[in-house]
This record gives sequence, C-alpha cells and structure tokens, in this order.
Amino acid sequence: MHRKGKALSELDLQPDSPPASPSLSVEVALDVPLWTTFHYLTEQPLLRGQRVQVSFGSRRMCGVVTNSFNENKDYAFRMKHVGEAFDELPPLPEDFLALVNFAASYYHHPFGQTLFTALPTALREPRAVRLADRQVWQLTPAGRAAVIPPRHKVRFALWQALSQGDLTPEAVRELAPGGAAILRQWQQDGWVRRATPAAGAAQVQGAMPLTAEQQAAFDTIQSAKAPCKPWVLHGVTGSGKTEVYLHLIEQQLRAGRQVLVLVPEINLTPQLIGRFVQRFPQTPLALLHSNVADGERLNAWVDAWQGRARIVIGTRLAVFTPLPELGMVIVDEEHDGSFKQQDGLRYHARDLAVWRAHRAGVPIVLGSATPCLETLANVEAGRYRRLVLAERAHRSASLPQVRLLDVRRVRRSEGMCDEVMAALAERVRKRELSLVYINRRGFAPVVACTECGWISGCPRCSAKLVVHLLERKLRCHHCGWEEPVPHVCPECGNTDIKPLGEGTQRLEAALARALPGARILRIDRDTTQRREAWHEIYRQVQSGEVDILVGTQMLAKGHDFGALSLVVILNADGALYSADFRASERLFAQLMQVAGRAGRADRPGEVLLQTQWPEHPLYQALVAHDFDHYARVLLDERRQAGFPPATFQAQLRADAPTLAEATAFLQDIRARLAPQAQQAGVMLCGPAPALMVRLANRERAQLVLESAERSGLHQLLNHLTVWLPEQASGRGLRWSLDVDPQET
Ligand code: ADP
Ligand code: ZN
Ligand code: ZN
Repeated sequence: MHRKGKALSELDLQPDSPPASPSLSVEVALDVPLWTTFHYLTEQPLLRGQRVQVSFGSRRMCGVVTNSFNENKDYAFRMKHVGEAFDELPPLPEDFLALVNFAASYYHHPFGQTLFTALPTALREPRAVRLADRQVWQLTPAGRAAVIPPRHKVRFALWQALSQGDLTPEAVRELAPGGAAILRQWQQDGWVRRATPAAGAAQVQGAMPLTAEQQAAFDTIQSAKAPCKPWVLHGVTGSGKTEVYLHLIEQQLRAGRQVLVLVPEINLTPQLIGRFVQRFPQTPLALLHSNVADGERLNAWVDAWQGRARIVIGTRLAVFTPLPELGMVIVDEEHDGSFKQQDGLRYHARDLAVWRAHRAGVPIVLGSATPCLETLANVEAGRYRRLVLAERAHRSASLPQVRLLDVRRVRRSEGMCDEVMAALAERVRKRELSLVYINRRGFAPVVACTECGWISGCPRCSAKLVVHLLERKLRCHHCGWEEPVPHVCPECGNTDIKPLGEGTQRLEAALARALPGARILRIDRDTTQRREAWHEIYRQVQSGEVDILVGTQMLAKGHDFGALSLVVILNADGALYSADFRASERLFAQLMQVAGRAGRADRPGEVLLQTQWPEHPLYQALVAHDFDHYARVLLDERRQAGFPPATFQAQLRADAPTLAEATAFLQDIRARLAPQAQQAGVMLCGPAPALMVRLANRERAQLVLESAERSGLHQLLNHLTVWLPEQASGRGLRWSLDVDPQET
C-alpha cells in the first residue's frame, strides 16, 4: 500500500510541483492525438471547464479540466502539478462540452483535439487572454449636475457626449485622446461610473411585408411546438429565404433569445452582413469566420458566450460558439461543401448544428435552393420537414429561360459557339451585365466513345474508371479495380475513344479578342483573395463599369448582382463523366444556382448552356426548373448503387512516400478488421489509390467502410480506433479518418 499525502508529494522531484500539502487531482484534456485525458495534481480546487497550463513531456500546454476528484491519489508521486489556472473567464459551459463530446465520438476524433478545434485560437494557448473592455462610462446624477466651462474643450466635449448617452472605451479614445485619464479623475469625484451596457431593445428597421408563401413558411415555423424536427426551407433563388430568416430572428430577439446563423465562407459578404445590421441596427452582432483576427474572434466568441452578442453570424467554425440563450439556429445554403471541414476534425457544421439544436430543444432552419441529397433523404424519411418557396419574391422577377446549345456539330472558336458570341455582343451593346461561367471543379478524366456514348465503368462496383494516361491504365478509385485503356470502344468498336473534360483555358483573353471594347472582369480565387476585393467588385458592377463577369463556381453562390441579363455556361459536361459519384449532384446544384443569378431584378434573364449532351436528364431538369424531379433521379441512382445517402460511409485515408506502403498498411487494417466488419454488417471497399494519388511528394490511398446502418459503422469504428494508432506507428505514414466523407 502506498502512503498518501504529503510524504509522497515530497518524493516528487518534478520541477513543476510545489512542496505543498494534500493535493487534489484533476483530469485535463490536451491538444494531443491521444484518446485519453491526463491526470495532474492541484492545491486549489479547480472547476470542470477551467483552462489551465500544464507541462506535457517537455512542452507547456494549455489544458481544459474535464473532471476533478476531491481525493488524493495513491500514485500521486508520479504526477505533475498544474502549472497555472486561468480564471479571467468562467469555466467553459456544459453545453459546449457536450457538443464537443458528441463531435469527438461521432467523428471518432480524440476528445482533446476536438475540444481545442472548437475553441478560438487565443484560448488554445497556455496563457491568460486579454479581453476587450465591454463596460461603458456613465454619468452619475452628480455628474449630470456638474458645470464644465466650455473653454475646457476636451472636458466639455466629453461631458456633453456623456450627457447624450453612455460611452464605450473606444468611443472615449476616438473622442478625446487622454480622455480616459479625465474619466478616472471624474470617477474619483463621483461624477461617472463604469456600467454594463443595457441590452438594446430589439429595434427593427425596414422589414418588408412577407409574400403569401413566405408568410406561410414563417407561420409554420413560428407556431410549431417544441421539440420540433429540423425545417428545410427549400426556396428557389430569389424567393426571399433571407427575408424569412430575418423575420424569424426578429421574433427570437423580441423573446430575448440569441440566434446562430451559419453561412458558407463565400456568402459571408459585406452585403449580407449589411442586411442584418440595417434590419437590427441596435442589436449586438458577433461575426465569426477564419478571416477575423484572433483577438477579435476571441472577443466575439466571448461576447456570444456571455450573452452580449444576440446574433452570431459565422462560417462552419461558429457552430461551436457557446450561446446561453440560444433560441434558433439557421443554416443558409445548407448544401454548401464549405460546411464540411477537410482536415483535422472532419466535422460537418450543418450536422453538428442539427444535433445542437435538438439537444437545446430549439428550432433549426436549413435553407437552400438546392438541398443536398442527404437532406432530401431525411425529408423523405420524415426526420426533417420541408417548406417550399416556389416563386421569386420580387413581383416582376421571373425565372430565367434556359436554352441548351447542342455543340456536337457546331463550329466553335475558343470554346464558344456563334450563338453565345452573338448573345454576348448584344448585351455588351445594350450595356447589360452578362456572366460567363466555367465549371472548373477538379474532376478526374474518364474515357468515352464519341460514337455511342460508352463510358468506362467499373465492372466490380458502380463507380467510373479513371484514366491514368502515363501508365495507360483505367482505375477504379472506389474498389481498386484496374485494367488497360482499351484501343477500341468495347460497345461499338469505334477507335475514336478519348479522355473527356479538359477545362476551358484562356477564356478571358479569348473573349477580349472576340469582343473588343467589352469590359471584362474575371472573378476567381486569385482575384478575391482579400476580403475587400468583393467591395471593389460590387462597386464596379453596381456603377455599371462591367459588361461581362467571367468566373468559376465562386460566382454561382449567393451574390446578387442585380441586373444580370445573360448567363453563359460553357463546359459543364465534364462533371457528367466524373469518377466522383457526387459530381452530378454538385453540377446540378451549381447550375441551378448560377441560372438563378439571371433575371433577378426587373429584366428577364436568359441562360445559354453549351453541351454535347442536351438530352441528359440533368439539363432537361434545368430547362424545366424542376429540381425535385432530377433530385429524385439522383436519389434513386444512389440507392441502386448503394452510395450515400442510401448507405453510410467512413473513409480511412493513408499517405506514405510510396503508394505501395500506403496500400499495404490499409491492406493490413482490412485484414484485421474483416471479421468484425462482417459481424457489424459493414462492407470494406479497397484499398484503392486516391483520385489524386500524389500530393506533396506523398502517395495516398484509401479504404472505404460502408454500411446500410449507421450504428454498425460506428460500432466498427469504435473497434478500429482502439488499435489503429498503434498499428500505424513506426511505418512512416500518416492516416486520417473521415466520417461521412464528402470527397471521393
Ligand atoms: P434568397 O435568399 O431566397 O435568394 P432574398 O431574401 O435574397 O432571396 O430575396 C431576393 C430578393 O427579393 C431581394 O432583393 C429581396 O430584397 C427581395 N424580397 C425578398 N422578400 C421580399 C418581399 N416579401 N417583398 C418584396 N421583396 C422581397
Ligand atoms: Zn462506342
Ligand atoms: Zn470499382
């Protein structure tokens, strides 16, 4: 038996441990890739959720207390002491820890790493943080009665400003340098005091009367009794979904609740924020996205947590923000890929938001013109409820006319047929804004026959085979099947078979040559790197300095350019042949969205789409503006092929200096997992090389775990993660686990 207490502490020679008397022990979560928490000693009682500084190996790290034991530990002599406990903030709230815990177990990611992913960067460091001073200066009755001679200019200005209303420290700084010193003096004189600002009344400005459809959606959501299922607000582009959100938010603010609004990275524009600020000019709003500087983000996060911010707008990372008075969650453009994090903790913010709203017992609204198939499957299964906005909100705005231009037998110059050129030229002449859209999302080439339309498919699974020209091989990236590239079409014997779907290059230059005098603006990742870039783009568009916008999917999202009269879509076909089974869903959503950019204001819009496959059901659905029909086709295809959302997937990825090493590792995993997989009803597919095999001098492969039941899959992942890290160690490889992967 060990003796307890002081004697043992004295044996502890760790430099961190003060020679203090009976120690308590706490469990601490750290940002390390291990599936465990760590025990430390402490003299003072610590609270669950409190941040501390501890040493771990040779490092000082920030930790978060997850448990405290009010007893001494027998093995205390081996334990280190907590270095420092931070108390500038209250302990992290239980709701937050519960969400982290759920995310860790759902994504099978270490709890500590999950927790630190959820925290703003500033709180991940082993040091105290400095928070913005949110208190205001306020005149006391004595201060009001004071008489300040106007010749004391600074004092008089300060006093005057204070008589109008409370001043924040920033306002004081702006008003009078040195004002802070004066105020401290006045505080001693009893003229002013520090006060917590009163929450502004939910003042609303410029709300529009809702259309009948909007009103119906609003009423349904508003009158539903809690707990209610997630709402899917399925509204065509321009149907006024945002207006519905604003009305719902208004109700929440009036009821004294906070609202969380998640939007895709690309949609968090000054324009969108402006709409919220104009509608609720007095309501404190916190903005959270990866481009907000660390200090600012910390303050926004804390404002939300302390209930000062009433509306939180942010990208996926905002889903973790603690909100003590959360009343509603809104996820705009819920289909958007940016809600899924693609490294570290590979979470999907929409899915976490749904869990969070459910746990908090508050409504959640998932809005989109093109809900993703997972969401539609949830509607079908009765787990979510759909509300439809079928009409555009603007009285005069109607849906654009979509025309398919069959370019199989038409002469094209620089990738554009004459009809497109003529349409563009006409708009330039009339000084109307056009948009030329190029689909350039990475897709892997497959081979097809130009005569009969045969496409290389995998004989073992329903994926398409991808060409690897150097090795002259066709490969399945789902199951690993390989075969040589055929010389003639296996269906019709035609010798003209070739890889499909190269991107359109040099388009901007080609347009400039063909339409001299047209003012062309290219929009892509490069030209919009800086946040202010959008400001400039809007300014140019709004002041009529642009004739043609040229761009990629960046343009497909929710940008409202007003009078857009023509949309040209050039090389959409490529995605139809993609090896990624989600490619046609994405293409369809993108085309629906991009077509939705046309004719928003009082001019009818026109959409011209060049294709070699005009009879394809995707394009036919686009012409008919029939989202539901094609979504149904896609869902049926997925069911037949056994792909999500009909099944549930997890992907184990590995990369190593050579493909052989990565594959061998996954092969070992597969062999070890096979018996349990069979028991749990989980299919193992692969290992197969990744679509992009080589990246940064490493080669990548993957093993897909697929199951008709979520529970079986998760059961198997629980087994796997017990021995996976050890199996991988010492092999010079990296691995990651992706639950509900979005990329093939
Ligand atoms: P969505 O978010 O569905 O794309 P928005 O909310 O941005 O649609 O609305 C599209 C356009 O219609 C905007 O210009 C908006 O001001 C206008 N709008 C929305 N609701 C109404 C309404 N009830 N009455 C008049 N105009 C509206
Ligand atoms: Zn053929
Ligand atoms: Zn296959």
